[in-house]
Amino acid sequence: MTTHVWDYLAEYEEERADVLDAVDTVFRSGRLVLGASVRGFETEYAAWHGTGHCVGVDNGTNAVTLALQALGIRPGDEVVTVSNTAAPTVLAVDAAGAVPVFVDVHPDTYLMDTGQLAAAVTDRTRALLPVHLYGQCVDMAPLRAVAEAHGLAVLEDCAQAHGARYHGRLAGTLGDAAAFSFYPTKVLGAYGDGGAVLTRYAHVDAALRRLRYYGMADRYYVVRTPGHNSRLDEVHAEILRRKLRRLDRYVAGRRAVAERYEEALAGSGLVLPVTAPGNDHVYYVYVVRHPERDRILRTLKERHDIALNISYPWPVHTMSGFAHLGCPRGSLPVTEQLAGEIFSLPMYPSLPRGVQDRVIEALLGVLGEL
Ligand SMILES: *Cc1c(COP(=O)(O)O)cnc(C)c1O
Repeated sequence: MTTHVWDYLAEYEEERADVLDAVDTVFRSGRLVLGASVRGFETEYAAWHGTGHCVGVDNGTNAVTLALQALGIRPGDEVVTVSNTAAPTVLAVDAAGAVPVFVDVHPDTYLMDTGQLAAAVTDRTRALLPVHLYGQCVDMAPLRAVAEAHGLAVLEDCAQAHGARYHGRLAGTLGDAAAFSFYPTKVLGAYGDGGAVLTRYAHVDAALRRLRYYGMADRYYVVRTPGHNSRLDEVHAEILRRKLRRLDRYVAGRRAVAERYEEALAGSGLVLPVTAPGNDHVYYVYVVRHPERDRILRTLKERHDIALNISYPWPVHTMSGFAHLGCPRGSLPVTEQLAGEIFSLPMYPSLPRGVQDRVIEALLGVLGEL
């Protein structure tokens, strides 16, 4: 059987009774859309973060788009982000009609190089969009200094950072708003699509509630456009409420897997993840680096049936679908070099020890032959 980087079936077996009870609870409630479960999840997710407001939406991509619109970002405004991210981060900026502008990433953490932000700001810049990629936070203190100096909004892309901390403070509470995805693979994942926006501002919360509900303030009456149908589904909200109570446990499980990799692979020739000072990493993905990446992946697949992943093989600015951004190859050298060398090892809380050991042994064998 092929070994993959992620699998939910063992977790489902463990939590099946609770998941099925969640589904039944919603189906028996008499209210299938924007009912007690979405409201309950929103309240509990905001409280878990110790912040004021949470609005459930249909996925992480739309969480970014709607949050930008709720923060007042308008077509033509520039939003500074990174190219080393999931393409949806940038698609979401595009969908808001805004113009994504890229800075390069730091060569140790592969996260936004905040030292490059000031030079990227123009008189059209309205927001900074740091992505807490792989499960650790961007260095937010220098980022906020740039935002304050230029009057920019700060939206965190937290799709990979549920429970991550920056100098003790939770990801999602470090800017003006934060977009989360609950895609099944994420640190907090639904059994389908889901997303949310956190914010400490009541007016942003109110704008988001309209944006996700056809632009209506009340039934049938549109008060603003664009309006979207971007609601969090009631079933997924109820499952997420229950999984939220286990989020600390999921994170601890991921950290235990990461520790084992670190022990076993130190000195192997792989560059292992570096946690920046002040960060608590939640290891959404465990990203390693090696110049012979493609050969390693090919051998692991052919010889051991281990299918590893690359997050992400193509920097966003080099994909043909983003040619209109006019950011040529060569303009983000760290991002471009990384894309050819990084790959991800299996990482999820219920990863069986035996599977992890098999991956480590196979990897050490392949590395020893290089
Ligand atoms: C998953 C992800 C998204 C998109 O979330 P969806 O729920 O899949 O729409 C956005 N940004 C990052 C960094 C992601 O990892």
